[in-house]
Amino acid sequence: MRSAIFVEPGKPLAIEDVQMPRPAAGQAVIRVCRCGICASDLSMTSGSPFDMPCGTAPGHEYAGEVVETGEDVSLKVGDRVTAIPIGSCGTCPACRADAPLQCQTFRSMAGGYSEYTLVDARAAFHLPEALSFEDGALVEPLASSHRGVAKLDLGPESRVAVFGAGAIGAGAIFWLKQRGAGKVVAIARSRRGAGLVDTMGADALLTTGEDLAGEIAEALGGAPDIVVDGAGAPGILQQAIECIGWNGTILSLGGCMKPDPILPLLGMVKEATIRFSVAYGASDFRTTLDTLDAGHLEPRAMVGDTIGLAELPERFEAMRTGSHAAKVMVDPQLP
Ligand SMILES: [Zn+2]
Ligand SMILES: [Zn+2]
Repeated sequence: MRSAIFVEPGKPLAIEDVQMPRPAAGQAVIRVCRCGICASDLSMTSGSPFDMPCGTAPGHEYAGEVVETGEDVSLKVGDRVTAIPIGSCGTCPACRADAPLQCQTFRSMAGGYSEYTLVDARAAFHLPEALSFEDGALVEPLASSHRGVAKLDLGPESRVAVFGAGAIGAGAIFWLKQRGAGKVVAIARSRRGAGLVDTMGADALLTTGEDLAGEIAEALGGAPDIVVDGAGAPGILQQAIECIGWNGTILSLGGCMKPDPILPLLGMVKEATIRFSVAYGASDFRTTLDTLDAGHLEPRAMVGDTIGLAELPERFEAMRTGSHAAKVMVDPQLP
């Protein structure tokens, strides 16, 4: 089968002919029908300490059709599924707390940039009839924003500022509105994501300017009590502290991979809280699927181009430098 392999930092992905995966007990093989490209795929193949192993295929936002099952698996050949791309034991305290990323036996189940990949059957979810494989590939990024937003106290009085109009920011806005946040403004470097954040329910998109804190407060009718970092660029946490109101909560979802100085005194004066959130558990996948299945299909607006494996290496490298507001989908079955 064909697979896009991370060779080493600084080299483009290589399309290689590799062995078909074989399912161990508790696993299944899926034919990958869609796999979203995630900013973390770029950062985890960039020569950072968080790189994935060389010689493996990235891709963790996938959906597909079961083609083979191992022992002790209730999935059937032909089932349409998406899956949490994390292998875990299922029984330790972290797993019981629905935090599989914290499991002692955590292993990545990336590999979606391939015609076929392995999933942990316990971490797989059937796609409802009304949902496409493309919807299925959106579940992972949406589940990730869901987990973060679910940590917030929200109500009709909430004033929320979201930095970033890409997949994480847009996903956060979707969940903030689903969960009843009153007013939400998005902040981005350009107006390109304006249509997307509008579809997701944002009240306005502001571009970063001179008096950002003032503009945010004006748009929200007061300083925000919640600020979400959905961009992960250096400087945003400090901007969040500058614009947030007294006793506010900053939710960090962006995963900035560089040191990012803040002025703690300003956060102290505002008695602000900074919360971090990572990944997802089964409850986040389940809620995301149920929400999409109930007809809340706004996240479809996140999808941009769909490309085959042949196009992927060049596109992947271009995304390292260019900006990429929309989510690019890989269809490994394209010729
Ligand atoms: Zn991702
Ligand atoms: Zn565990």
